[in-house]
Amino acid sequence: MKTIFGPINSRRFGSSLGIDLSPALKQCNFDCLYCELAPSATTDTQKSIVEVSAIINELKEHLNDHIDVVTITANGEPTLYPYLDELIDELNKIKNGTQTLILTNSATLIDKKVFNSLLKLDQVKLSLDAATDNVFKRIDRPHTGIQIEKIIEKVIEFSHIFQGKLFIEILFVHGLNDTKEEIKKLNDILLKMNVTRVDLGTIDRPPAYPVVGLSYKELYDASLLFDSSLPIHIASRVHAEPNHASYTEEEIVNTLDKRPLTAEDINLLFDEDSKKRLENLISYKEIITKKVGNLEFYILHENEKRKRLKTH
Ligand code: SF4
Repeated sequence: MKTIFGPINSRRFGSSLGIDLSPALKQCNFDCLYCELAPSATTDTQKSIVEVSAIINELKEHLNDHIDVVTITANGEPTLYPYLDELIDELNKIKNGTQTLILTNSATLIDKKVFNSLLKLDQVKLSLDAATDNVFKRIDRPHTGIQIEKIIEKVIEFSHIFQGKLFIEILFVHGLNDTKEEIKKLNDILLKMNVTRVDLGTIDRPPAYPVVGLSYKELYDASLLFDSSLPIHIASRVHAEPNHASYTEEEIVNTLDKRPLTAEDINLLFDEDSKKRLENLISYKEIITKKVGNLEFYILHENEKRKRLKTH
């Protein structure tokens, strides 16, 4: 059974070669409403297990200088793989300049062994869809005994110890975790963390259960509810309807002060005249670009921020 797939060109992470740690069947400790895999009973252990040597041998055939990142993932939750620590050690021996990344739902961070194994990676993406038990159970449908408060505690702790790039992903489902109250609680948790970037997403592919995602505009509005100091990025554009509104220079500065935007966001939100005004602001150096992870954001220049602090 093949465990290596790609490379896939990921906007967020670059050219990515994937490792699927559960190629034969879905093995997950969650049964998320939005999962793009078929619904299935949850499990907290893997029963179908691939050998580390088989993964590494296959990986060696595909790894080359054009790969930015080797991404550990699974049909399900990759951290349920019982030899994760050994695999990461082997990856670190052969990766050369390539980065290592894992995409996980965060639940197993409460296991000390998994927590310590993830510290050895270059990049970690932790999902955190809910702040409260009720919403967590409704959206992620976890295996018995998994508690969101414990996960949150470990995610915060991990964020302060991890030396690599840490991405948090929140996937929004209409009517579940997109309420002002839940976002406020998620915001309070994020403010306690040390993160590289927070990706806000929604349902992009047919989900396991009949749930609905947010439009780009709804995601954008949700992003404004988070504190402006957080490195928020709107990661989902599948349902992106161009807004093409007119912004004055003052409005552009206000918007970017509140929420840094990527070129793709600008294309969706601004009309042509507003884009020209943005160009002007860039030429006056009031607005600059900043790379966060693999993405470039338009942000306010520090001097401009200071000026605004004095006048407000
Ligand atoms: S954690 Fe990932 S694989 Fe598991 S059910 Fe949720 S979306 Fe699917």
